[in-house]
Amino acid sequence: MAEISLNNINKVYGDDFHAIHDLSFDIRDGEFMVFVGPSGCGKSTALRMVAGLETITSGTLTVGGRVVNEVDPKDRDVAMVFQSYALYPHKSVRENIAFPLLMAKVPKPEIDRRVEEAAEILELTAHLDRKPGKLSGGQRQRVAMGRAIVRQPAAFLMDEPLSNLDAKLRVQMRAEIASLQRRLGVTTIYVTHDQVEAMTMGDRVAVMKAGRLQQVDTPQALYNRPDNVFVAAFIGSPSMNLYEAELDGRTLTLGTNSFDIPDAVFEKRPSLAGAQKRPVIVGIRPEHMDDADVRPASAQIRARVTLVEALGAESMVHLAIDAPWVDAGDPDAVGEIGDGKAAVARFSPKSGVAAGDTATVAI
Ligand code: ATP
Repeated sequence: MAEISLNNINKVYGDDFHAIHDLSFDIRDGEFMVFVGPSGCGKSTALRMVAGLETITSGTLTVGGRVVNEVDPKDRDVAMVFQSYALYPHKSVRENIAFPLLMAKVPKPEIDRRVEEAAEILELTAHLDRKPGKLSGGQRQRVAMGRAIVRQPAAFLMDEPLSNLDAKLRVQMRAEIASLQRRLGVTTIYVTHDQVEAMTMGDRVAVMKAGRLQQVDTPQALYNRPDNVFVAAFIGSPSMNLYEAELDGRTLTLGTNSFDIPDAVFEKRPSLAGAQKRPVIVGIRPEHMDDADVRPASAQIRARVTLVEALGAESMVHLAIDAPWVDAGDPDAVGEIGDGKAAVARFSPKSGVAAGDTATVAI
């Protein structure tokens, strides 16, 4: 059993910097959990507390049912993979991977067997006698993974392990790490600021902001049913477009545009039924807006096209919508009508709109 439980975990740095507030959730045995959030939200601090590299100010941390708050990092049975890989440049790949086993005084034949097994899994067999300096970035990343795997730990803890790789290699390695984790079935916590990485790799994703957990759920649930405006805007790329609007009966008024909301929305959100001139925040994902001439829908608004970025399979169309926008990072920030904040829409490539046009947009 390698379930990891965080119960009301707090971290205060120094006298008064409260970096983590009452973090509570469970990571199931064998689960791939991603901590995601903007820079400074506390995701590395949370991971480092699980690893034992940072003290826990208050709360209880358990690994496999055992309280480990006061347990030394080396006795927690977790293996950390760092962003920098932390490889020894003068040691061979074999020696790098073997290092934690040497430290643990594992007998030599057993070390050889486990290193070769890990190398096989990671396709490093041909490189075992080379030095890290002679390897590609992706191969170095795999050596760092190898060093974690040989220990056969109860959990892997990974802190932005792909951030030193170029964009193409990142995409390849994220698939490799995710499939490796599923094959080994080892409970994993993976920290990233990249929501695409979080969505593609995690069984579940914990979204954090300013030291507080915002929502923890499957990627699809975060996308479909965000708990708050921050999660709505953080998950999805380009970001969800957010506006202040008014709901009256079934009519939604978005600045100078009005349209009727389909019944399906009220079925999902019964609390909205029967609203009378109620202020609401409306979120519209870029992929849920298209040129009404190409793909008509009952809900339509008029918008001015400010920029068209043709990407081949779709066009990113920037729209000025005459309605007060909401700043995703700061839900209290609301812009004025017409002050230039653009919505982004993913239009079908069949759309012929151009900058300067007034377009009818289907939602
Ligand atoms: P990033 O993606 O930039 O690494 P993060 O989400 O991992 O960010 P943390 O490194 O966990 O954020 O830091 C959370 C907050 O705690 C930040 O405001 C940071 O400045 C602060 N912090 C981190 N380490 C310390 C420390 N040793 N002493 C004081 N404050 C710290």
